[in-house]
Amino acid sequence: MIIQNGDNSIRFYQFFVPIPATNHRNSCNQAMTAAADQHPWFGIEQEYTLLDMEGRPFGWPKNGYPGPQGPYYCGVGANKAYAREIVEAHYRACLYAGINVAGTNSEVLPGQWEYQVGPCEGISIGDQLWASRYILHRIAEEFGVCVTYDPKPVAGDWNGSGAHCNFSTKAMREENGIIHIEQAIDKLSKQHLRHIKAYDPRGGKDNERRLTGAHETSSIHDFSAGVANRGCSIRIPRQVADDKRGYLEDRRPSANADPYSVAEAIIRTVCLNE
Ligand code: ADP
Ligand code: MN
Ligand code: MN
Ligand code: MN
Repeated sequence: MIIQNGDNSIRFYQFFVPIPATNHRNSCNQAMTAAADQHPWFGIEQEYTLLDMEGRPFGWPKNGYPGPQGPYYCGVGANKAYAREIVEAHYRACLYAGINVAGTNSEVLPGQWEYQVGPCEGISIGDQLWASRYILHRIAEEFGVCVTYDPKPVAGDWNGSGAHCNFSTKAMREENGIIHIEQAIDKLSKQHLRHIKAYDPRGGKDNERRLTGAHETSSIHDFSAGVANRGCSIRIPRQVADDKRGYLEDRRPSANADPYSVAEAIIRTVCLNE
């Protein structure tokens, strides 16, 4: 706060209001620097839901609900995919901005979408994902539509939104890297709570509405891993198991997670053995 004195000089007052620490980039960057020789790559699948001005998922009937989930995931047609113009405009704007966006798809809940950012090495995953979220809000605004990253925008038998974090080190990407992937999963299994705390802005409180064990999620209370299994905390993609090299997918992060916190937790557990 700035106060102007009678003589036109200015006094500065420092207010000691407790503000929760929200900038996690610095500590993430320190971890990334320490692990740089392992060349960590990240790819995040950002899910989100479009909302109309009343806060209802975009495209849903004013009174009542759309037909049950099933035909919407990767769907086409005006009665299945709502507002693809926004998704495609966002994709193009990201490319124009130099963001390493890898793809998009419509999601399980009608009005819900996903795009993927990555692979990005080190701290750039956080920088790029945050910038891509901002661009999405701006693009949707042009269309009079809002975006929510809430992990469970509609309670009940409707899928939530995650930010699956795909991760690899150089050793995992090389021949027989599956050994290093399995070692990483072993380390992750011993730090489940640390990761749950880092995977949404409220230390697990947001994600507990989503990680129920239903709707292609694992329970927030248990750690599990499996090949091609979408009900696990960690999924080894089918192709990775066949090739015996590649990456792992951590399915736990919430759509509203801070990518700096997510990436930092993974690096400290897997690469720095903290
Ligand atoms: P899913 O099958 O879970 O829907 P997606 O195709 O949506 O997976 O997303 C896969 C993500 O994994 C992409 O962001 C991609 O960039 C990322 N990815 C691919 N290979 C690697 C790798 N070796 N290390 C880290 N991330 C990777
Ligand atoms: Mn995906
Ligand atoms: Mn998805
Ligand atoms: Mn995924």
